[in-house]
Amino acid sequence: VFVCLEGGEGSGKSTQSRLLRDALVAQGYDVRLTFEPGDTVVGKEVRRIVLSPETGDLDDRTEALLYAADKAEHVATVVLPALARGEVVITDRYVDSALAYQGAGRDSLDLAELEQVARWATGDLRPHLTVVLDLEPEAGLGRFSERDRIEGESLQFHQRVRQAFLDLAAANPDHYLVLDARAPVDEIATAIRERVAPLLVQ
Ligand code: C5P
Repeated sequence: VFVCLEGGEGSGKSTQSRLLRDALVAQGYDVRLTFEPGDTVVGKEVRRIVLSPETGDLDDRTEALLYAADKAEHVATVVLPALARGEVVITDRYVDSALAYQGAGRDSLDLAELEQVARWATGDLRPHLTVVLDLEPEAGLGRFSERDRIEGESLQFHQRVRQAFLDLAAANPDHYLVLDARAPVDEIATAIRERVAPLLVQ
């Protein structure tokens, strides 16, 4: 079973992915908790390049391809092997982040082409469920004092990102769970666990 958590900055994805991992481990499941970008040897380098403010402006295609390279390496060396071992894989960000940030956020690349690149990078591996933790960017960005290259983008950029996640969810509701990220942490965690539970018995 392959579950993704998506959402904007400060929406609580890493907290919720850890809580989900802990709950599933307590139930006896083998779980691989992972994230993008950066959870492979190559990915760490990619993450440094795409997120360091020192990188400065990157061509939008270059940036999209760097994220795609991280994704390809991540799927090939982390996600697929774990799924093959029968583990539940929980990833903090996946293809939808590329569509939201490099697509809607940058607003310069053709979305269908970008999706093709991401699908090619991942061999079209799709999650059983994507949880979107929805939060207005003003609230999420306020949680950081130091900003990486992307967090420093304009509010409009982050508003487009937020809308993109909501649009992706609305287009395919069977595979999405959208939650208000301002709800109490334990309420969100319970909602996620309840939505994941039926996937595990299949
Ligand atoms: O999830 P996390 O905060 O670690 O993500 C790191 C950064 O990478 C975030 O600032 C996020 O906006 C950015 N990112 C992106 N495009 C992606 C994935 C992540 O801009 N496809």
